[in-house]
Amino acid sequence: MKAYKNGKIYTVNETRDWAEAVVVDGDRIVYVGDNDGAENFIAGKQAEVTDLGGKLMLPGLIDGHCHPVMGAFFKSGVVLNGIFTLEEMQAEIRRHIEAHPGKKYYHGKGFQEEYFIQNGIWPDKSMLDCICDDTPVFIYGTSGHVAWCNSCALEKAGITADTPDPHPGRSYFARDDEGNPTGYLVENMAASMVSDRVEVIDEEEVDASFLELSEEYAANGVTALCDMGGLGRMLDYMKNGLFDFVESGKLKQRFSGCGVMVNSIGEVDDGIALAQELSRRAGDRKVDPDKCRFSFVKMFQDGTLEDLTAAISAPYLNIGTAPDPFFTNEEMIEAGKKIAEAGFDINVHCIGDMAAHGLVVMTQALRDAGFHDTRVTDSHSTYIYKGDVPKFGELGILANTTFVWHAAFEEEKDILPPQLPPMYELKSVLNGGGKIGAGSDYPTDDFGLEPSKGLQMGCTRSMYRDDIYPGSYELAPASEKLSMDDVITAYTISNAYQMRMEDQIGSIEVGKYADMIILDQNVFEIPLEEVYKTKVCETIMNGETTYRK
Ligand SMILES: [Zn+2]
Repeated sequence: MKAYKNGKIYTVNETRDWAEAVVVDGDRIVYVGDNDGAENFIAGKQAEVTDLGGKLMLPGLIDGHCHPVMGAFFKSGVVLNGIFTLEEMQAEIRRHIEAHPGKKYYHGKGFQEEYFIQNGIWPDKSMLDCICDDTPVFIYGTSGHVAWCNSCALEKAGITADTPDPHPGRSYFARDDEGNPTGYLVENMAASMVSDRVEVIDEEEVDASFLELSEEYAANGVTALCDMGGLGRMLDYMKNGLFDFVESGKLKQRFSGCGVMVNSIGEVDDGIALAQELSRRAGDRKVDPDKCRFSFVKMFQDGTLEDLTAAISAPYLNIGTAPDPFFTNEEMIEAGKKIAEAGFDINVHCIGDMAAHGLVVMTQALRDAGFHDTRVTDSHSTYIYKGDVPKFGELGILANTTFVWHAAFEEEKDILPPQLPPMYELKSVLNGGGKIGAGSDYPTDDFGLEPSKGLQMGCTRSMYRDDIYPGSYELAPASEKLSMDDVITAYTISNAYQMRMEDQIGSIEVGKYADMIILDQNVFEIPLEEVYKTKVCETIMNGETTYRK
């Protein structure tokens, strides 16, 4: 038995009670209450007692939206985050290639889309060919929605002027005047046609960086991961390594995943089949479903604002157009019903308000058809179509968000039309009886890995430090700022709901798994501007310490 005493324990139970002590037996919480009660509880029993010394304890944080498998893949290549000119990007890629001679391919992530947009150019194969022309080079943008490759990669993948675009106008190969692909790949369907065919994944490398990432997550207080999918071939990795890591205890988080991303109506059947296959494999291996499960299908309704591919209801100011969502409303309904009938929950990437509107229409149709138990999540909830905000509560749509995106940026003024609804109307979702969840969207965002920054930014709608991003300012309206309870609830019990584990994790209550974290400062008592500095002292998952400072 383990007892934790003299703490400030925010239990996140129904009535948001505070406690002083917790007792854990094996993987479960067996007592929550005051110090005296804990003393009585452990009297006469063998117990290891930890004095929390007044520190804050919270339920283990759940990353409700991330891509750890894809993140592991990216980590094993060249990382360009924070590099803002083409010359420096090229220099970094060259350094990486020179440091790793003789590889079958080179991959990476994090080229800055903004750099290209601001300079009126697009990523082009020639910019990589001059660094490497005999080995495929394949690099994702910061958003993870667009990719850039060299001529060798296009050749190996057999992509030529005659190759049709996988989803014209939505996911395609950028082309020159003669129709030749330029090496700029827009959205996942086009990108995976290259990445799958040149087999850019090295299983051993990915395995190693996946475990490294798991350690990093534990150090940041994360005890469960909701993996929102990767590209086609990444599944091969998941089939093997993931189950081994779960069984051996090397993975320091519970894992809930979907396997693949579904980008169009034509991919829905395959997406369901894959989720079924993964569930069956997990079942065959007798993997503990409370540690690893595949219970939802992930769909993409649009792209991103930085790539000008998010389906917003008015044209982007700089290009004068805006794309439609990937699915029509009719297709959303058809897809939603198929997934619900197969018994899976649904998680939909929506950035633009038109994308989110399709999700609302789909959920309404599901409820009307009697699918009341299907859990539906808006993966990003950036924009919600005018009038749809109350529907999140009414229809039971969980609004997931990445709090470190809750800030406004000067350069957006030239891109985003002013008639759009406000970004992240999440206090309104809560006021309408809805739930909000939180995720890092790692590896799209690296700093999202540290939830303390998110806790702060959800409350302030501003960058966590003034100097961190020149030209950023507070996102209006102030009425959408969340409370500390709101953001902690999002990271814990609401994300547990998304995993269908709200009876098992997400709060510190008797009978639940012992997933808890101890923090070095009390985020309820310090100024909000200081919250980002908060560090994790100890992370406990399933009763075991997975990190200690
Ligand atoms: Zn994502």
